[in-house]
Amino acid sequence: MSRRGPKPPPPETERAVAREATSADLAEASLRPQRLEEFIGQRQVRANLRVFVDAARARGEALDHVLLHGPPGLGKTTLAQIVARELGVGFRATSGPVIARAGDLAAILTNLQPRDVLFIDEIHRLAPAVEEILYPAMEDFQLDLIIGEGPAARSVRIDLPPFTLVAATTRAGLITTPLRDRFGIPLRLNFYEPDELEAIVRRGAALLALDLAPDGAAEIARRARGTPRVAGRLLRRVRDFASVGGGARVDRAAADAALNRLEVDGLGLDAMDRRYLRCIAETYGGGPVGIETLSAALAEQRDTLEDVVEPFLIQCGLVMRTPRGRVLAARGWSHIGLEPGADTLRQLDLLAHESGAEDA
Ligand code: ADP
Repeated sequence: MSRRGPKPPPPETERAVAREATSADLAEASLRPQRLEEFIGQRQVRANLRVFVDAARARGEALDHVLLHGPPGLGKTTLAQIVARELGVGFRATSGPVIARAGDLAAILTNLQPRDVLFIDEIHRLAPAVEEILYPAMEDFQLDLIIGEGPAARSVRIDLPPFTLVAATTRAGLITTPLRDRFGIPLRLNFYEPDELEAIVRRGAALLALDLAPDGAAEIARRARGTPRVAGRLLRRVRDFASVGGGARVDRAAADAALNRLEVDGLGLDAMDRRYLRCIAETYGGGPVGIETLSAALAEQRDTLEDVVEPFLIQCGLVMRTPRGRVLAARGWSHIGLEPGADTLRQLDLLAHESGAEDA
């Protein structure tokens, strides 16, 4: 069992703004906040966790199960570790795709100490047979296992120590209802605000002993696509450029020059994001285009597009997800320096009208 669980090798290891962890991110550990007070942003989530953790601690009970959902790199793993530390209990980590058989999960669960935190990343990728044995484990701290095969098979019930499952997912929609219902504390993480990211960048610079001017921190934060992992990665790359350039103080101009060399634009989009926008515009006339078609056209996995690329583009109002497929919004067209045709403009007007009607 590894601390994060192996992820499929990301096809975009070289992307400076890749939002999932890559092998180059071992350095990330040094920037991880250790306590809830050090964790910046997500005010509501933090405030709720503070109450629930303190209450569980005071009662000497295991904390109720926690489900964290939100795009990659927003701090789900970090929060899981913080919860264990704040509770003063052990922390074990694995991930959905790694637990291939029911027996694998049984081995993990029976090795837990009372009140330990078990972190399962990518819980939406758990095999159905494994999920089945997770239900009674979460609800009654019991394990129902079938031992042996054929006529000799018998079922055994094993009592488990009370534990807390902290699960993370980028896709709450893919979690089955019975599983979702077993989490007493569901928490949603949102993209960070620029001032929160700036605080994260300043904290990181101090930990990395980098002399970063306030306007340099603001520039990195503005281009970190709302994601602490991206902020940390951009900060480390900017530091590389600074140290090669003589180690002078990093101000806005120095940060801007470094980020331009990394092809990270003013909104924080990189070459892959722009390729996605341009593909909808140039190949599909602005959409609507289905996700499978886009995935084939871009030679990128559908999951990567849905989990990693699209959430921020949608949040920025560059792309819309409609029942008929993805549509490039007016802002998306202008961001890549293209003009939508008259038909496309009419369609965008119609969509704006429809969504306005839905909101009302
Ligand atoms: P996720 O599990 O959601 O993909 P992680 O918890 O692995 O994200 O966080 C990615 C990186 O971002 C970590 O290095 C962590 O240090 C940093 N990070 C995340 N959230 C915060 C935060 N609120 N404050 C400071 N750093 C953070």
